[in-house]
Amino acid sequence: MIESTFSIVKPDAVAAKQTGAIIQMILDAGLSVKAMKMIRLTRAQAEGFYAVHSARPFFNDLVTYMISGPVVVSCLEGENAIAKYRDLMGATDPAKAAPGTIRKNFGKSIEANACHGSDAAETAKVEIAYFFSSLEIVG
Ligand code: ADP
Ligand code: MG
Repeated sequence: MIESTFSIVKPDAVAAKQTGAIIQMILDAGLSVKAMKMIRLTRAQAEGFYAVHSARPFFNDLVTYMISGPVVVSCLEGENAIAKYRDLMGATDPAKAAPGTIRKNFGKSIEANACHGSDAAETAKVEIAYFFSSLEIVG
């Protein structure tokens, strides 16, 4: 099944000049980029994006980290794109991520873990619409 998913190259990876390498891994995994832009999130935008985690103890640190520098957001498409990209990212904690994954290669900590990917079809839809209008997504 061809799916869409949402990706963020997080501030640690953008600052470390790892954006290009991460996008290349995404393309090499057979996913295609349907939309992409670099933005700097406001606190309110980051809080809205991570609202599901607002009760977690790490929420404030996470939001502060996500607004610490620019991020590269993208809409990806491909066969089983949601699970495929989650597999490519690896475990949330880079120390537990499998070899060859983005987080193993580039993650710095459980918080500064290089990338975000949607976890389900419904969240992918919401997350894509949070950052992109339909006019910005290549048909
Ligand atoms: P994932 O990004 O793998 O879907 P979660 O949705 O559980 O992981 O968490 C969202 C983000 O919050 C993570 O990618 C990471 O940046 C941060 N995070 C998760 N757990 C922790 C933690 N225990 N301590 C600090 N930051 C965390
Ligand atoms: Mg998540």
